[in-house]
Amino acid sequence: MSAAELFIDLDAVAANWRALNAMSSGHVETAAVVKANGYGLDVTRVARRLQREGAQSFFVAIADEGLAVRKAVGGDADIYVFSGHMSGDGAVIQSAGLIPMLSSPEQVARHFADTPGASFGVQLDTGMNRLGLEADDWAALRGDLMAAGPRLVISHLACADEADHPMNHQQLRTFHDMTDGVARRSLAATGGILMGEAYHFDLVRPGIGLYGGMPFADAAAVVRLSVPVVQTRTVRPFETVGYGNAWQADIERQIATIAAGYADGLIRAMGKGAKVFAGDVPCPVVGRVSMDLITVDVTHLDELPEAVEILGPHQGVDDLAEAAGTIGYEILTSLGHRYGRHYRGEH
Ligand SMILES: *Cc1c(COP(=O)(O)O)cnc(C)c1O
Repeated sequence: MSAAELFIDLDAVAANWRALNAMSSGHVETAAVVKANGYGLDVTRVARRLQREGAQSFFVAIADEGLAVRKAVGGDADIYVFSGHMSGDGAVIQSAGLIPMLSSPEQVARHFADTPGASFGVQLDTGMNRLGLEADDWAALRGDLMAAGPRLVISHLACADEADHPMNHQQLRTFHDMTDGVARRSLAATGGILMGEAYHFDLVRPGIGLYGGMPFADAAAVVRLSVPVVQTRTVRPFETVGYGNAWQADIERQIATIAAGYADGLIRAMGKGAKVFAGDVPCPVVGRVSMDLITVDVTHLDELPEAVEILGPHQGVDDLAEAAGTIGYEILTSLGHRYGRHYRGEH
């Protein structure tokens, strides 16, 4: 195999959904957030697998993603669109039966004008200031919106990855003030689910936790990435490796060059401090990550490996993210298109 291989365990995604589902009480529905192509792992396969597990509601970022989910899961599921009803979305909202989360007075007007009678939800701003109706707009539009019957009213937590952050409670209070007694409600993504019942309302909408990322520390690992070694060479003292001569050998070293780089989503920022694994043994990345290749020090190995693992049981997406100064979400959604992709648990 000359291409790096990405193994995606849909059974683990399903197990993570079940585990998150078990954290809320029976009347609370557990949906699934599958935006950005199912966090980079293939929205069709992820949505089908989770539908089989019992998920009935899916969330995407934009209407086109909703169309892909509709094709994957058929007519019965509810598909919500976080960006709401954007200009030009009317036809796809109608044909795919999507539920846009209306988030501004302009969107509300557009939805009622362009797709009268079509389902909708409402997104409220409780402090994140990203999307959602402000309190004044909500007060003005609430009567009309409630008369038309929103399927769901949501807001989003800005700091749910830090359970102790005072912003969480503040947003919770604001959400109660804005919505008590109005409709079906949802506030919690993965972080909010972990913060407990007070945040669950009627529906929870986990994303990253399904795919094995923090803050769901107990998540089952979903991805494994194995990268073949192209060649191994001896580097003598004072010789340098890679672009910019960024790394220099102190003593004689064995350097393996592996077949993946930043074009595969192994971002350049991970150069310093990142590791790969030869079996159970960590091997440091040396020099700069280049577009298609990464160099690693394998001097300490008894046997030169044919392939090394970058993601897997020894190093999850958050570990790798830390080495690159980013978050697991970005590592997952950056995973490239050149990998041979292998799915487990599809049927
Ligand atoms: C992405 C997103 C989610 C899912 O968040 P995770 O942290 O991945 O669980 C939920 N709600 C909204 C509004 C989002 O944008």
